[in-house]
Order: sequence, then structure tokens, then C-alpha cells
Amino acid sequence: MSEPASAQFDREKEQMVLEAVERFLEREVRPVAHQLEHDDIWPAEIVERMKEMGLFGCIIREEYGGLGLSASTYAKIVERISRVWMSVSGIINSHLIMAACVQRDGTEEQRRRYLPRFASGELRGGLALTEPDCGTDLQAVRPVARRDGDFYVVNGTKTWISNGIHGSAFAVLVKTNPKAEPRHRGMSLFICEKGPGFAPSRKLEKLGYKGIDSAELVFDDFRVPAANLVGGVEGQGFKHVMNGLEIGRINVAARGVGIARACLEESVAYAQVRKTFGKPICEHQAIQIKLADMATRLEAARHLTEAAATAYDQGRRCDMEAGMAKLFATEAASENSLEAMRIHGAYGYSTEFNIERYYRDAPLLCIGEGTNELQRIIIARQLVARNPV
Ligand SMILES: Cc1cc2nc3c(=O)[nH]c(=O)nc-3n(C[C@H](O)[C@H](O)[C@H](O)COP(=O)(O)OP(=O)(O)OC[C@H]3O[C@@H](n4cnc5c(N)ncnc54)[C@H](O)[C@@H]3O)c2cc1C
Repeated sequence: MSEPASAQFDREKEQMVLEAVERFLEREVRPVAHQLEHDDIWPAEIVERMKEMGLFGCIIREEYGGLGLSASTYAKIVERISRVWMSVSGIINSHLIMAACVQRDGTEEQRRRYLPRFASGELRGGLALTEPDCGTDLQAVRPVARRDGDFYVVNGTKTWISNGIHGSAFAVLVKTNPKAEPRHRGMSLFICEKGPGFAPSRKLEKLGYKGIDSAELVFDDFRVPAANLVGGVEGQGFKHVMNGLEIGRINVAARGVGIARACLEESVAYAQVRKTFGKPICEHQAIQIKLADMATRLEAARHLTEAAATAYDQGRRCDMEAGMAKLFATEAASENSLEAMRIHGAYGYSTEFNIERYYRDAPLLCIGEGTNELQRIIIARQLVARNPV
């Protein structure tokens, strides 16, 4: 049976985009990644190029100025970027969760007002959920938005917010009714643009994921227009965020695939040139077992990520699929980075090689977008919900 014309068009479009991304990565990111990462420098030129390529609008529909790519193609882009330097991917990933929240749950007016500016990269930012006293238990968020005429007045603090310094717009989860029970009914999501009363208070230092800024954001009597309440109705914010996190978890899974792949590829190459006892180490069974396990983990991680992205593209509920992909692919990245370090011996520990960067970057993936402990809880709950007796 021949392929429908639309499917063939999508495949060709995907191929073209992926080739352009790979060219960009090899020419413009790989040569500078090592130095920028070690110096913890925000990659301004790379961001400009990503704007030109439309990457800030990957999954934003064409009618709103985006590339209109599927989640499946997006995951492949994220894998490729993360294989070279994960932080570069982070700059578009949380930005696109914010965009996904507006695209899926925003009003038509909000879509028209925000999505074209998000897609061009003119307005960049991310998602502000976490607080000094709450991360996993999102319903415990404390900042309050109080209605005042055509505005809401927001007070509170968010922390660990990616793009917090260089971004200028954030989807911010707050309470509009702190007394509501259940708690999620009192939660709302606002698009907040930096201005008087909303600014980063400090950049946070970290083990890896360097180059991209993580910051604490402070809201001090910040006035956000009521028109920026996502969906226009109070009490829906938790639901909007859960929807947005589906694509968030798919992108984190894809980042895991990218790191797991980089670790494998560099280990396969190194194991053929490094010799001990008169032969390349790839001929020692102990190393062969490591390489085989790394490759198998990578393939499994990629399949799970693709399955989750396909479910997302088909409009199916995919919290379990995204949870499985996120859990498995990020653990695969961590395990592969440790095995890559062992295979590289002392060179794996050296800051002159990439392996120690992968080893520092990978653990974040097990924490961000919902810890892997939380993913197991989500998976188990869905197993029961989908299989009632
Ligand atoms: C570099 C970086 C970038 C980040 N970027 C962003 C961002 O852009 N936006 C944003 O909002 N946040 C961001 N975060 C925050 C991240 O999402 C949170 O760290 C994460 O959700 C976990 O929250 P927590 O750190 O408060 O851990 P906690 O919620 O305090 O959890 C601590 C431990 O307890 C476990 N745990 C908690 N509850 C349960 C339970 N019910 N059952 C079993 N175990 C449990 C957790 O899995 C974890 O192991 C970022 C974090 C980092 C490090």
C-alpha cells in the first residue's frame, strides 16, 4: 500500500529539518560547546541562530507562526541537540512547555497575542512551578494572585527556573484561592512578562547544565493583566500545567536519549583505539558487555520516547507513556554516562573530554519535570486507572 501524500510530506519535512539541525550542531555548537560549558557562558550566538531557524516555534502551529512539527519530530531534534550539548536544548524546552500551555489551553486571543512572539523567539522564557519549599507537591505552591480590577496582584517566589535571567516571559503557577479544597481548584496559571515587581533575584550555581541560566524569581506586588490568565478561568492552572508537562516529559526523555547516545558513540570509538594487554579494549569481554548494555538501553529509551511522542501526536492521553519514557531514558543517560566514564578510564574523569560533562548533566534529568520517583507513582496510578477490576 502506498503512503498517503500527507504522511510523505511530513516525513520529508522532518528529514529536512533534522538535516538542518545536524548541520547547525556540527558547525556552530560542537566547536564551542566545551568552552562555553566550562566557563558557564550563556550561548548568545547559538540562541540567535536558533531563532533564525525557527526552533523556538518547533511545536507551535504554523497558523501562529511556528514550524508546526509533531512531538515525534521535536523529540528527534531534542535528541540531536542533547547529543552535542544538553543546555542548548534546555533553552527551547521549557519555553515550549509555556507555549504548549497557551496553545492547548489558552484562549484564542491569548494564542494570537503570544504564540507568534514565542515562535520567533522575540519573547522567550519558561515554566515557573518550583518554589523554595515545594517541588514535587505542586499543589502546595504558595504565591497568591489577588484580583484587582483588570489585573491580578502577584506576590511570592519561584526558584530553579530555567531561562530565569535571559528569558522575559514565564507561565507562572499561583493560587487564586488559597483556601480551596481540593487544593488544585484554587490554582491558576498566568503568563507573566518581566516588569516592575517581577525580576530574578539571583542566578543559581549548579553541578552541570551550565550555560543555561537557572534563577530565583521574585514577585513583589507584580500586576499581571487579567487577560493573561491562561484559559481565562480561575482554578484550571494545575490541569494546564499537567497537560504542558506531557510534552515536557517527552522532551526530557529525548534529552536522556541524546546523552545516552553521545556516551555510547564516544565509548565505541574510544574502545577501538585504546589498547591494553596488546589489543583494543573493545576486544575485552568486560568492555563488550558494557557497550552492549549501553546500546540496548539507548535503543529501548528511544523506542519508549517515540511511543510517547506518537501517543501525544495522536491526541491520546499519554501521561503513563511519557512517564515511562522519561523514567527509563533518563536513568539510561545516567547509567550510560557512568559506564562511559569507566570505559574512558582517567580520560573520562578529565575535564578535557566530554564524558565528565555528560556525567554531570545526566542526573538533572532524573529530577526535572517531575522526579523519577514521581514518574513511578504516575505510572502505577495509571496502571490501576486503566485496568479496573
Ligand atoms: C537545573 C534545574 C532546572 C530546573 N528548572 C525548572 C524550571 O524551569 N521550572 C520549574 O518549575 N522547576 C525547575 N526545576 C525544579 C525541579 O522541577 C524540581 O527540583 C523537582 O520537581 C523536584 O522538586 P524538589 O527539588 O523540590 O524536590 P522535593 O519535592 O523536595 O523531593 C525531594 C525527594 O523526595 C522525593 N519525593 C517527593 N515526594 C514523594 C512521594 N510522594 N513519594 C516518593 N518520593 C517523593 C522526590 O522524588 C525527591 O527524591 C529545576 C531544577 C533544576 C535542578
